[in-house]
Amino acid sequence: MRKILALSPLTLFCVSSLQYGIVFDAGSSHTSLFVYQWPSDKENNTGVVSQTFSCHVDGPGISSYAKNPLQAGESLRKCLDKAMTVIPTERQQEAPAYLGATAGIRLLRMQNESVAERVLSAVATVIQQYPVSFHGARIITGEEEGAYGWITINYLLDSFTKYSAKQQAWVHPQTSNILGALDLGGASTQISFIPAGPMADATGASEFRLYGFDYTIYTHSYLCYGQNEALLKLIQSIPISHPCYPIGYLETIPATSIYSSPCTAQLQPGLSAASGNVTLAGTGNATQCRKALQKIFNFSACSHNQSCTFNGVYQPPVSGEFMAFSAYYYTFSFLNLTEKQPLDMTQAAIQQFCARNWTEVGSGQQEQRLRDYCASANYILTLLLDVYNFTETTWGSISFCMQAAGTDIGWTLGYMLNLTNLIPTEAPVLLRAHKS
Ligand code: AMP
Repeated sequence: MRKILALSPLTLFCVSSLQYGIVFDAGSSHTSLFVYQWPSDKENNTGVVSQTFSCHVDGPGISSYAKNPLQAGESLRKCLDKAMTVIPTERQQEAPAYLGATAGIRLLRMQNESVAERVLSAVATVIQQYPVSFHGARIITGEEEGAYGWITINYLLDSFTKYSAKQQAWVHPQTSNILGALDLGGASTQISFIPAGPMADATGASEFRLYGFDYTIYTHSYLCYGQNEALLKLIQSIPISHPCYPIGYLETIPATSIYSSPCTAQLQPGLSAASGNVTLAGTGNATQCRKALQKIFNFSACSHNQSCTFNGVYQPPVSGEFMAFSAYYYTFSFLNLTEKQPLDMTQAAIQQFCARNWTEVGSGQQEQRLRDYCASANYILTLLLDVYNFTETTWGSISFCMQAAGTDIGWTLGYMLNLTNLIPTEAPVLLRAHKS
């Protein structure tokens, strides 16, 4: 059983002012900077840390700078400069700053460890030039990514603990109020939740002690099954006639753009990866698209009494309410499917969108995004229904969201809360003055 968090109680002096923290989410397709703030006299209460600023770094994710690592560092400057205008000068020196790199860098490290190190060192060098308390740039594990996303959601929704004025104590939340987390990135995807029963395999379990209560969650991260990598696997399995792209879509791409990722490199067919092109012709058929997507998973191997996702990975049955964020949200928000529509309506809307002609779907700046929405919507259905085993009934337990309590949902807040000990292991001693 893994222990990810080693939280210790806070011993800080009470000064009534705001404190700040910075976290970079260095994802596979882009980097974002988040500035969080919290009142220092309430820091060990739940739900007081909020996002005050976010900045989308121009350019691709840092793993794309393998040929020019220094540029990865330079790309962060604009957002850091802006963050310095948001955090008052007298608070900057004490503001903790972190950079966490996720699946894009995990993949780069698999290809070339020293290049991945150079990229991390380049970003660290630039952040160190700013007057903040920098705590390093590191690659976080997939399990951390999943667990910190789960912490972020439940922290923001105040579901870990509540102060009961009646009982004059911090009361244990009902486990049923704790939400699960579904994160879909570009290169990896994570699922985290509290199972209803005991886990048959403890390797997926992570334990925490938060506000005086123990939690055991199931969390799993699938490298190479983020949206971009999964869609590459799909192109590789069905080049030319492509049911997930709109009718009339036609593009010729170099084969290297498919096979250069470690996720697809081993699966290279007879076609030479170093040369040649692949032509993609959209046929816009959601049913065939879903079938093709199911084929990128091996559902057969399972030694856990059929309680598996794919490749023999154990997962207990999904349980409770879930928040689905990141690419789950981007795609479903584009398709106007974030209003908790029932599964049949969701599927019908996706069918309809997929059947549209490329000339109707549109083109222009966001061409690749528009091309991919049918594919990504079907990938989401495949992941949720065929891999994680949500059903028509449990579908209604999933909310597709980008924010909770005005703060973006993702692993970054949970990561900072842990590293700064902003979530104490024991119940807060200070009573909340202004919140019920
Ligand atoms: P990342 O957070 O960089 O790992 O990206 C997560 C996934 O969401 C990637 O597949 C991106 O291509 C995709 N993505 C990011 N922003 C958007 C957006 N605004 N609309 C659609 N997809 C997006």
